[in-house]
Amino acid sequence: MLTNIILAAPSDTRRKRKSAECHHQAVCEGCQRPISDRFLMRVNESSWHEECLQCAVCQQPLTTTCYFRDRKLYCKIDYQQ
Ligand SMILES: [Zn+2]
Ligand SMILES: [Zn+2]
Repeated sequence: MLTNIILAAPSDTRRKRKSAECHHQAVCEGCQRPISDRFLMRVNESSWHEECLQCAVCQQPLTTTCYFRDRKLYCKIDYQQ
């Protein structure tokens, strides 16, 4: 399935009024660690570190579009094999 990669800012950086206790931090689908970067990458409903967003086969970085299957990301070439 071809999927667009969306560069997003973590939602908790803008509203810091009373909800500072709310640790609603995104977790990277690739490494399962929280994402504390300035930006995160959204693929479907999942969030990724920028550096974790790479093809599962050839480790090529994925930037604008990727192919998503079995919770793994692929470049076009490896997906079609
Ligand atoms: Zn990660
Ligand atoms: Zn690849």
